[in-house]
Amino acid sequence: MAKRLQAVRGMNDLLPEQTPGWQWMERCIADTLRRYGYDEIRLPIMEPTALFARSIGEVTDIVEKEMYTFEDRNGDSVTLRPEGTAGCVRAGEQHGLLYNQVRRLWYMGPMFRHERPQKGRYRQFHQVGAEVFGLAGPDIDAELILLCARLWKELGIQDHVTLQVNSLGTSASRGRYRDALVAFLTKRRSDLDADSQRRLDTNPLRILDSKDGGTQSLLVEAPQLADFLDAESAEHFYGFLRYLDQAGIPYTVNQRLVRGLDYYGRTVFEWVTDSLGAQGTVCAGGRYDGLVEHLGGKPTPAVGFALGLERLLLLLETAGALSRVPDRAPQVCLVALGEAAEAARLTLAERLRDDLPGLRVLSVLGGGGMKSRMKKADQSGARFALIQGEDELHGDQITVRDLRREGAQVTVPAAEIAGWLRERLAD
Ligand code: ATP
Ligand code: MG
Repeated sequence: MAKRLQAVRGMNDLLPEQTPGWQWMERCIADTLRRYGYDEIRLPIMEPTALFARSIGEVTDIVEKEMYTFEDRNGDSVTLRPEGTAGCVRAGEQHGLLYNQVRRLWYMGPMFRHERPQKGRYRQFHQVGAEVFGLAGPDIDAELILLCARLWKELGIQDHVTLQVNSLGTSASRGRYRDALVAFLTKRRSDLDADSQRRLDTNPLRILDSKDGGTQSLLVEAPQLADFLDAESAEHFYGFLRYLDQAGIPYTVNQRLVRGLDYYGRTVFEWVTDSLGAQGTVCAGGRYDGLVEHLGGKPTPAVGFALGLERLLLLLETAGALSRVPDRAPQVCLVALGEAAEAARLTLAERLRDDLPGLRVLSVLGGGGMKSRMKKADQSGARFALIQGEDELHGDQITVRDLRREGAQVTVPAAEIAGWLRERLAD
């Protein structure tokens, strides 16, 4: 027998019982972004490989070992996008959206990284990204945080996430810090975990967020990034923190917060939760003022964040927030019995949909006797079954059974059924 076909490991189907929660979450996010003036941009899920190597950085985890890269039929190297910022900048440049103007953009969709699948970590996952171009001040950094905070409130998880912030300074000040950190750690090289030893030569700042206990305790004595900040970055950072204070947003300054991608500088932040184990970062972002120019555009300040939707959904589940997902079940089921009534039922359903535009109507189709059709109506979750047999049809009537109340059944003139339902379903 042929082997049963399976999805690619780490790539998930979202089944019908899961999609209502997703749709609700996505709608909340899109509505919130609209309230802050963001415009949606839709981008390809595949880009030339060079785009990611140049923007994310050659020695990052993503580019070194996580990308889905292959040659297409022309022999061109293409990559399934591991994140959205690079493609967004590429599109912005290509279509002249970025120069000399302010843009607030957002996108949503699948991202691909070849990581070890586990709870909150998949090979295809989804992000919502928000990117702002053309604003250099700390006010927009703070506005992004306020947007997130509002979103958490809309979703009902404001008590489950906390904010961590840091400043990475400019690439010059970061360079000076990197030298000091490397000097410090080189003396203690043999006490570092294997990954950090490797990073000491390639991407030493990433050692700061090593999960290894031994490495973390070494770092207590290490030079601090804050002591190397240039004056302008420090001023930007304190401006950012002042805005957060004014808005009453609690935060922790985490000196060890660095981001896994090369393009970040100055403000970085993460929204974290302790409800999801090791995969605790739900939303992460920061400033990337150098990236547009680095990719061939004019110097353009930029800041943004990416929100991991699988982790957000897990958090919504843990927090019990999905109880607010609107009911998707039909409100009304049509059950027809006999040839003539069956012939008329689709028309009746259309008339109901015309008269009551928000109404969710399910026609019970397929064969079966009255009993099995009523069972289907009941299982649909509908409140009312509208029953038409030959008798009702001839009398221009409909029998309405309240499926949620034992023995409640009335007969309603067919012409009045829309009004009758409108009244009953209003509450
Ligand atoms: P982590 O440290 O957990 O690997 P990251 O720094 O690689 O995260 P980013 O590149 O900043 O993550 O992506 C932003 C967000 O996208 C993360 O905070 C997370 O919510 C989500 N995310 C990243 N990688 C995955 C993945 N493999 N599966 C599910 N969600 C992910
Ligand atoms: Mg990662």
